[in-house]
Amino acid sequence: MNLQEYQSKRIFAKFGVPIPRGEVATTATAARDIARRLGTRVVIKSQVLVGGRGKAGGIKLANTPDEAEAVAERILGMDIKGLKVRKVLVDEAADIRKELYLGLVIDRAQRRVVMMGSSEGGVDIEEVAAHTPEKITKIAIDPFLGLKDYQAREMAMTMGVNRELVSDFIRIAQALYTAFVQSDASLAEINPLAIVGEGKLVGLDGKMAVDDNALFRHPDLDEMRDVDEEDPYEAEARRFGLSYVKLDGEIGCMVNGAGLAMATMDIIKFYGGSPANFLDVGGGAQADKVAAALRIILSDKNVKAVLFNIFGGITRCDEVARGILTALKEVPTTVPMVARLVGTNEAEGRAILADAHMGTAATLDEAADKAVRAARGELKF
Ligand code: GDP
Ligand code: MN
Repeated sequence: MNLQEYQSKRIFAKFGVPIPRGEVATTATAARDIARRLGTRVVIKSQVLVGGRGKAGGIKLANTPDEAEAVAERILGMDIKGLKVRKVLVDEAADIRKELYLGLVIDRAQRRVVMMGSSEGGVDIEEVAAHTPEKITKIAIDPFLGLKDYQAREMAMTMGVNRELVSDFIRIAQALYTAFVQSDASLAEINPLAIVGEGKLVGLDGKMAVDDNALFRHPDLDEMRDVDEEDPYEAEARRFGLSYVKLDGEIGCMVNGAGLAMATMDIIKFYGGSPANFLDVGGGAQADKVAAALRIILSDKNVKAVLFNIFGGITRCDEVARGILTALKEVPTTVPMVARLVGTNEAEGRAILADAHMGTAATLDEAADKAVRAARGELKF
């Protein structure tokens, strides 16, 4: 789950990262009131879950409450990279002298949380990473020791942080690390971490991603989920307990089990196709779940064929087949479908589906091959 800037910054602040004073508004008049209360020049920032808002025109300064209202009026409702702006953050404007970058990610190869820092922070950090990666310093953090002072100091040195700011920098880096670990985050980023005014470090932008599988132990974070901002089909998948990730291919996949879903995607690739999604319907796979999964898959206009790959263990294949039929009654479609059902009651399951003019297959190879050819229009059932 990705958090909005204002949410990420509030979490960072709770752990000790200095951030500007500010509040969220959903209307221009509310933005005006906030600007009046702050009593300073403000920056109006669109809250959408996408990077590069500044370059897209979603971040603007305002000198007076009147101006704040006018600017908020323009930004609210704006479309930024396909996302509609429903909220703005009104922050006290900062007098920026320099923009640094500070971020934490999980490096799976190293099996460590890695801290990244750069003196070249700000809106062009992607270009820095692409063209001058030597300007980004990385430090791997031992999970048992945490981020040690000397590591954060070394980072400050290589980033060229002024001597007077080093101890503040260390405190901020450790606060960010603690926020990351205690929130079960997969990403925590401050960009820019700005040197402002007479020389003070402030986190002006925040970004955080929290591991969905850890949300059960963070009810406070789970509450921050902004359903309006989510893809409606991903929200529906979550409601039905389906693990769903949309991809760019043309073959929709409905599979029970995450490992089996991965294998299914691989074999679709092997036969020259491309998966439209990862979808694990999980155990049980009752009709309503299967129907929801099918609705979600077919909502994707790129889908030219659907491949069901079900392993019947406790779940009986005939039951799944009936589930698929029920789903098809609910979601009629002309998209060709291939089912590979193996395990308990597989023959009954296949017979039910063959009667319904679905392609069936005994092996995963056969199923993938059929799905790929059906997607190309070379095979009809
Ligand atoms: P992003 O474009 O989505 O990463 O949004 P940011 O919050 O990082 O803002 C983009 C840029 O706007 C920053 O790199 C700053 O240069 C500028 N900016 C953000 N807040 C302020 C502010 O309070 N004062 C000034 N002068 N510039 C700001
Ligand atoms: Mn930023």
